[in-house]
Amino acid sequence: MPKQILILGAGYAGLVCALETRKRLTDDDVVVTLVNKHTYHQLITQLHETAAGARSDRSVRIPLEKVLRGKDVELVKGTVQRIVPAEKQVILDGGRTLAYDYLVVALGSEAEYFGVPGMREHAFILKSVNQARLIRSHIESCFARYMYERRSSLLRFVVGGAGFSGIELVGELADALPKLAAEAGIDYSLVELYNVEAMPGILPGFDPDLADAAQESLKSRGVRFLTSTPIVKVEPGAVYLKNDTVLETETVVWTGGVRGNQIVVDAGFATEPRGRAKVDQYLQSVNTRDTYMLGDCAIVIGENGRPLPPTAQIAWQMGTSAADSLYHDIRGGVKTAFHPVIQGTLASLGRKDAVGKVGRSMKLHGRIASLAKEAGNYRYLAKIGSVFKP
Ligand code: NAD
Repeated sequence: MPKQILILGAGYAGLVCALETRKRLTDDDVVVTLVNKHTYHQLITQLHETAAGARSDRSVRIPLEKVLRGKDVELVKGTVQRIVPAEKQVILDGGRTLAYDYLVVALGSEAEYFGVPGMREHAFILKSVNQARLIRSHIESCFARYMYERRSSLLRFVVGGAGFSGIELVGELADALPKLAAEAGIDYSLVELYNVEAMPGILPGFDPDLADAAQESLKSRGVRFLTSTPIVKVEPGAVYLKNDTVLETETVVWTGGVRGNQIVVDAGFATEPRGRAKVDQYLQSVNTRDTYMLGDCAIVIGENGRPLPPTAQIAWQMGTSAADSLYHDIRGGVKTAFHPVIQGTLASLGRKDAVGKVGRSMKLHGRIASLAKEAGNYRYLAKIGSVFKP
């Protein structure tokens, strides 16, 4: 009797796990079912481009039917409501129940609001194509409304958080806003783009030289940085900063951090305080051995003793590692511990600039870094067999 492998989430980790599992195991071994909220895979590493209008929605939404064609993976469109590990069942919206022998949870992360009042209610976040579309159309409407309302808050854009997500979005906006202003016939000197960060510098924890290079590049394109300045409250039309400044704005995008998925916490899997599942060296939940936890759902400690960042390159490597382990669960043999290979860490700063490290120590910035980032995107598309010009 084939074993039922149920994979939740067709993001970077879940999709690669499904494809790699089917490469290793036959129909006699397994039935592989992949559950996803949408019928498409989202290239979330490029959403900042979509939010600023630099890339179409279509190009960051890859139809799963296309990627899975001929791969013997059953796709179920549905939203996971609950996992019941004791019964080896997953409940979807509408009450549909799926059973499993092995579960792979790759449901991604959620925004972490750190309890900042009003942030959840009044700020945009950038974790899906639909949210990117909302940001883009909102920004366009701010320019359109300014023509009638003439309120400066319509032309003031605030990105909260200067981690990689915040900096990449600010970079795209720094390129896009001048064009939107020109189209609307608005003098660009009236437009203000703020990046507000609680820590003393941008890209905290990243190479200081590269963080400085990023800041200089963005400043030269008009970005206003407020560092050592936590956001303490958001209300409709205003952002309150710890230094008692109030920025009147219609647009706050929150990139202040991520936490694990609440479904994982609610199911009773062992988690750390930010909701990420505790896993062993094979990425199996430490308290539920038939379940693998991949991508942003899990916390994995790297060689330096610190948690690995929740990035796409680590997520898809986890997908491959879990597929190897599932092979050994079913066919026997010795499993191999998960050892990520970090190819590089690059942050784009708009269309033509980027900063980052490639390999262990090569620092790049400028056009070459931008091309290296683009090459990484294509490498991933090749991995899932979906190289096409977006
Ligand atoms: P993050 O946690 O890395 O950064 C969030 C930033 O928000 C921090 O600098 C934090 O100090 C700041 N912040 C928190 N509360 C604040 C407040 N009240 N006011 C102002 N600032 C506040 O989150 P992220 O940028 O979404 O990144 C999440 C993970 O994903 C990271 O590990 C990152 O490395 C990774 N990532 C990587 C890439 C890439 O490789 N290109 C792109 C995006 C994200």
